[in-house]
Amino acid sequence: MSCLFCRIVAGEIPAAIVHRDDDVVAFRDIAPKAPTHILFVPTRHFASLAEAHDADAGLLGTLLLRVRDVARAEGLEGSGYRVVTNVGEHAGQSVFHLHVHLLGGRDFSWPPG
Ligand code: 5GP
Ligand code: ZN
Repeated sequence: MSCLFCRIVAGEIPAAIVHRDDDVVAFRDIAPKAPTHILFVPTRHFASLAEAHDADAGLLGTLLLRVRDVARAEGLEGSGYRVVTNVGEHAGQSVFHLHVHLLGGRDFSWPPG
C-alpha cells in the first residue's frame, strides 16, 4: 500500500489520532498551520473530492459531521474554525487521499491565498 493516509488509517505509520470509527479517521497534521490543525480522512481511499460519487453522499456527510464533533471537543465552537479540502494542482493538494482540514485557534484571512 503506497498511499500515505491509507497507511496511517491502517496503523502502519504513526499519527496522533484524535478520532477513529469504521468510516472516518482524524489525526493531527504533522506540520500544523494553526494552533489546532486536524486532518479527517475517509477510511476508504479516494484521491480527492473529485473522485467521489453521488452514492458517497452519506460518507461525505458523516465526514463533515465528525469535523463538527471534533471541533466541539477541541473547544473551537465559540471562536470558530475553518474547514478546507484541497483538490488538485491549483489548490495545492499534496497528499492524494481525500482529506478535510480543520483549522482553529487563530484568525484566518479571506479570501485564502
Ligand atoms: P494537502 O496539501 O494535500 O491539502 O494537505 C496535506 C497535509 O498533510 C499537509 O497539511 C501536511 O502537513 C500533512 N501531512 C503530510 N504528511 C503527513 C504525515 O506523515 N503525517 C501527518 N499527520 N500529516 C502529514
Ligand atoms: Zn489512501
